[in-house]
Amino acid sequence: MASLWERALTLLFPHKCFLCGRVLAGEGWLCGECGLPETAGEACPGCGKRLDRCVCEASGPVCDGVSAALWYEGGVRRGIHRYKYSGRSYYAPFLAALMAKRVRGDFGDGAFDLVTWVPLHRKKFRRRGFCQTELLARELSRRLGAPAKGGLLAHTGKGGAQARQEGAAAREHNAREAFSLCRGAALKGERVLLVDDVLTTGATARRCAELLKKAGAGEVRLTVAATTPAGQRKMAANGGRR
Ligand SMILES: [Zn+2]
Ligand SMILES: [Zn+2]
Repeated sequence: MASLWERALTLLFPHKCFLCGRVLAGEGWLCGECGLPETAGEACPGCGKRLDRCVCEASGPVCDGVSAALWYEGGVRRGIHRYKYSGRSYYAPFLAALMAKRVRGDFGDGAFDLVTWVPLHRKKFRRRGFCQTELLARELSRRLGAPAKGGLLAHTGKGGAQARQEGAAAREHNAREAFSLCRGAALKGERVLLVDDVLTTGATARRCAELLKKAGAGEVRLTVAATTPAGQRKMAANGGRR
């Protein structure tokens, strides 16, 4: 897919290491010195937190299964920020490849009938020019051989930014306001893979999974590029986003 246009873009906007931001000589995503903090099966399949920090007992599982590729800390936090806010959409195939590998490891092959994503609010979409979760979902769809399907979940534009909500209850309430089903969204027992970029408290994913079930999904599992290793307290102290 590296068209002439894309190669020209690479010259104008050189690729940077996903983790440290160093400019890379050609195309690519990592410099020679950075190592990726992959979760490698150490994240809880219920809540997505580190196994020794599992919060399933306190908050219940997020959905029917969680798969997270990376720990959301240090360079990953900055890399995902660049992906979302600096127009570095070329990180999508890189992140999706890591996610697909983890999804296969966690759920096996052929575990899904369709792939969908947590939608972005229209205004943010216009400002950013792309929806980071949709890009990941389309890349994952290709890699996992399950069709990508939009038009299921909608962002209502109501409520504030998830990152600014204090406490689990506020986040749950805000997520309830922020997401709804698209008109006519109907499923017939499909096994759905829901895609988001970052998992913190799980309020967003929990709400979206609940809506997809309401629309008729048989099973909803979540894949994220990165998850905070621990629950909310740590996350708030680090100024996390969602
Ligand atoms: Zn680097
Ligand atoms: Zn857990």
